Amino acid sequence: MRYVSTRGQAPELGFEDVLLTGLARDGGLYVPATIPQLSADEIRSFRGVPYSQVAFRVMKPFVCPEISEDDFAEIIDKAYSTFRHKTIVPLAQTGSNDWILELFHGPTLAFKDVALQLLGHLFDHVLTKQGRKVTIVGATSGDTGSAAIECVKDRECAEIFMLHPKGLVSDVQRKQMTTVLSSNVHNLAVGGNFDDCQAMVKALFNDLAFRDEITLSAVNSINWARVMAQIVYYFTSAVALGAPDREVSYTVPTGNFGDIYAGYVAQQMGLPIKQLIVATNRNDILTRVLTSGDYTVGKVSPTISPSMDIQVSSNFERLLYNLYDGRGENVRRLMDNLNQSKSFTIDSEQLNKAKQIFDAIQVDEQDTEATIKAIFEQTGMLIDPHTAVGVKAASLKNTDTSIPMVTLSTAHPAKFPEAVEKVTGQHPALPAHMEDLFERTEKYDRLDHDLDALKSYIRSNL
Ligand SMILES: *Cc1c(COP(=O)(O)O)cnc(C)c1O
Repeated sequence: MRYVSTRGQAPELGFEDVLLTGLARDGGLYVPATIPQLSADEIRSFRGVPYSQVAFRVMKPFVCPEISEDDFAEIIDKAYSTFRHKTIVPLAQTGSNDWILELFHGPTLAFKDVALQLLGHLFDHVLTKQGRKVTIVGATSGDTGSAAIECVKDRECAEIFMLHPKGLVSDVQRKQMTTVLSSNVHNLAVGGNFDDCQAMVKALFNDLAFRDEITLSAVNSINWARVMAQIVYYFTSAVALGAPDREVSYTVPTGNFGDIYAGYVAQQMGLPIKQLIVATNRNDILTRVLTSGDYTVGKVSPTISPSMDIQVSSNFERLLYNLYDGRGENVRRLMDNLNQSKSFTIDSEQLNKAKQIFDAIQVDEQDTEATIKAIFEQTGMLIDPHTAVGVKAASLKNTDTSIPMVTLSTAHPAKFPEAVEKVTGQHPALPAHMEDLFERTEKYDRLDHDLDALKSYIRSNL
């Protein structure tokens, strides 16, 4: 598979280089040059097949033969052996035709493990083969950080620097990162919000000299391999609910647009997805752009679903590339507007296309809490606030209740215990492997929101 930049001015790369590069050198994101197609028969043949085998068959065209089929199958097996549930991502029923897809059974209790456990093994494989070492720098609104650290800790091939907005991630989220004491892990609490942290990381990538000096790499959701790994669970869950002989709808609690974009790719590959619903909290830039075409960056407002508290949604650029039929100059024009005036507007033809693919709605804090409570009362299940945003959005936007509606459950309730306990009176327990999290020693440094300070910190710690 060849990969091209959304902005059309970076060299085409193969899978391994795309994996290690993250952001393209023209500032764009890598996307596959063509989308592989799976026939209805192939999709039907996934029934009853274990997750890792479906994963292999769905991802193979993106990865092989650059990585051999045998090696790739082994990488997948290793990646998902750390999950605590034997079906990896089980479905749970919450209503007569409503489901949640539990994506939180990996080591750090959020859906990001599904992609990042795979990425860790892919990095290891490719870097060992090439005899190279990379420096991973990332920003996290909470969940990416621990999942990324968990995927590279103690690996010879990588050093990782993870920026989180100081005081703006939950205690569980922070401790999951800062209690990993491996010498190749560097946690940084940065003054500012998540978008400030992400902007610093982007600036590092755009400093090509520094980028080459430290062999910079990314595991943020801009990395194509993460999107790719997330395509798989749309297939496994849809097939479990009757696809390809029946349509299935999805609602996705959305921040950086990576998870829902994977659903769009699954649909492009041939999976019969009826509705794709973008659920946002009151940081609603995605709802605004998908309903009015206006992408204007506002101020981040903290919520009880902090992993979606963002105003710049990086993977949206990949959708723009599709909406503009792969014409990089159009993506460049919009991204230039964004850089200059923190705003762009999608042209009406492209907006109409987007509206045919996606529904979008924002859910406020009160409705999020009410949904956690209602699901507990109706089913006895505890859901986390991000999942609740999705469940509420699904109920508001579902246009055909005869079609199964799957909400992606992106985090374990124990990751956000205060919000859950406040409305249900139940304290969600951490799984056994994390019971002593609050007794573990933390290690992290503080840093100002200052690019030069970050650069010298990285240099002095390599
Ligand atoms: C990261 C995250 C999201 C948002 O996912 P995107 O791919 O960035 O849209 C939603 N919920 C949780 C719990 C997350 O960690």
